[in-house]
Amino acid sequence: MTSVIAFWLLFLTFVGAFAAQVATRVRLIAGAPNTFDVGDAAVRVSRWLADVLFQRKTIVERPAAGLAHAFVFWGFLVFAGYTSIEFLYGLGIVDLTQMAWFHAYRLVIVPFATAVLAGILYLLARRAFVRPIALGTHVSAESIVIALFIATLMITYLLTFQLDEASMAWRVNWWVHMLVILAFMALIPASKHFHLVLSPVTVFLKSTELGNLPNLDFEKEQVGLETVKDLGSKSVLDAFTCVECGRCQVNCPAWGAGKELNPKAIVLQTQDALLAGDKERKLGEIYTEQVLWQCTTCGACENQCPVGIEHLPILIGSRRGLVSNGDAPEYLGAMYNNLERRSNIWGLGYDQRSKFVQAAELETFDPAKHDVLVWLGCAGSFDADFQKSLRSLFSILRANEVRFGVLAKERCTGDPAKRTGNEYMYQELATGNIEELKSAGVKKIVTSCPHCVKTIGADYAKFGYQVEIVHSSVFVEELLRDRRAKASARPSGDREIVTYHDPCYLGRYAGRTDEPRALLTRFGAVIREPERTRDNPYCCGAGGGLLFADKEEEPGSRISDVRFKQLQATGANTVVTACPFCSIMLKGAQASAGADTQFVDLMTYVDGKLRAIG
Ligand code: SF4
Ligand code: SF4
Repeated sequence: MTSVIAFWLLFLTFVGAFAAQVATRVRLIAGAPNTFDVGDAAVRVSRWLADVLFQRKTIVERPAAGLAHAFVFWGFLVFAGYTSIEFLYGLGIVDLTQMAWFHAYRLVIVPFATAVLAGILYLLARRAFVRPIALGTHVSAESIVIALFIATLMITYLLTFQLDEASMAWRVNWWVHMLVILAFMALIPASKHFHLVLSPVTVFLKSTELGNLPNLDFEKEQVGLETVKDLGSKSVLDAFTCVECGRCQVNCPAWGAGKELNPKAIVLQTQDALLAGDKERKLGEIYTEQVLWQCTTCGACENQCPVGIEHLPILIGSRRGLVSNGDAPEYLGAMYNNLERRSNIWGLGYDQRSKFVQAAELETFDPAKHDVLVWLGCAGSFDADFQKSLRSLFSILRANEVRFGVLAKERCTGDPAKRTGNEYMYQELATGNIEELKSAGVKKIVTSCPHCVKTIGADYAKFGYQVEIVHSSVFVEELLRDRRAKASARPSGDREIVTYHDPCYLGRYAGRTDEPRALLTRFGAVIREPERTRDNPYCCGAGGGLLFADKEEEPGSRISDVRFKQLQATGANTVVTACPFCSIMLKGAQASAGADTQFVDLMTYVDGKLRAIG
């Protein structure tokens, strides 16, 4: 009887400590502006099963540590019933420990206990001795204590098979096991181990769209994030879910190039600011303005995070807050001016686009005459270099009897305005384009700009405008595959060695990594994959308005230089790209390095091969 009362007292004390800390965090989440969304339930459920139950992301990115973590997680699940029954026994509510099925259950979970013990000892050694850079330079005492707690739980459980239930040793072992669980419970809400409770919810609530940035509603006087109290409920939940694994950090191109931006730090700074309770503190002070402008919006952080954290709503949301107060950097002021006066990022006159349209003999889109609209984009309309690539696309389309036209008038999609936080300008450009596209009766769009794919395909949908838009690599690959044209014959002789740079907005955002490779290999190319490839490429450094930044003034290396070196390291002399902005950035890096690497746009490559085949 005495031990039941003692256990009740301890139970209430520790559970009380747990509940008080959880309540603080729940209050902060519930008090934030609601940004939770549960649409696309089927996608969310299948992602939840893959990433939570089967630990897909955790294992794929770091197989050894991920598997060790998965053992611990699965062990927690199978031990939940055992622990509950021991609590019911300890609290004197009901004793199920003598039931035959409980004995069978105890035996079944022995292999799990062994796997959890092996997993946690591996993770403990990795954290204490190997110290991967992603985990930080400082070994946190709390992580060591938690790891030792878990190891103790498994050892005390396994010892129950060796001890006589009537002995004092068995009782001591039982108390140690139960006290460790209670202490663990009291410790987790204030630690990164709170992800045990929150991450299943966070993964479920993560947007089904990478880099999802809902429109601001100006009628409701929304201006973006300015202070701590503006952070949305999903961002607050994210801040308390971070497990500090550093996957976002090591995959961030800005951090990789030695800049101050570290997406893991952004999440942890958010957590600290929320707990500090100063709701009026400016986000520009917490993260610093310099850091906020270093993000290329490549999406690597969100995509790699195993617990469903979204960094871009905080980063772009804070940029929106700065822009609404007139605090954008000077280089963006010039770009905004171009967009405002001439509706394109370079501020060039539309007569130049008209000249190109005439010279390339392009027809104005007519739904009765044309199957698809080719969207030129700012680069296609004004950049002479990229226009060569578009001419290649036109030539492939004509050779394959695709009936296409272009809009008489095209504005910038608004991508650079949206990703730099100038939501007002973005909405002006987007609504203007949507009107043009609607009145032209466009049903399908092909473009060579991956940023335009994202903006027209996903961002314009937030205005209720739905249109099919595909990147030229996808369209042309399908075209050649379906028609089994002359292209199926591979040229004889030496096979050309190339490397392919996946643009972030094509490989990561659109998940299109096979089609560009299929096009290259169907003409006999041998692809040497660079470090960071396919759906986790290293950014070229152009996104998020950084195409316009003064690279000389940036701290660290240029992101484009780092990427160029990775591409060079493949040993391939030809780099194939599929985005006008990647092309501009990487050619700039090549010029700085004085290298003789040849850059070819994918459409130019394909057209050249088709012509060579004849
Ligand atoms: S979006 Fe890319 S550049 Fe921005 S913080 Fe995330 S990983 Fe870094
Ligand atoms: S935000 Fe996600 S990826 Fe980054 S440290 Fe936290 S849990 Fe890891």
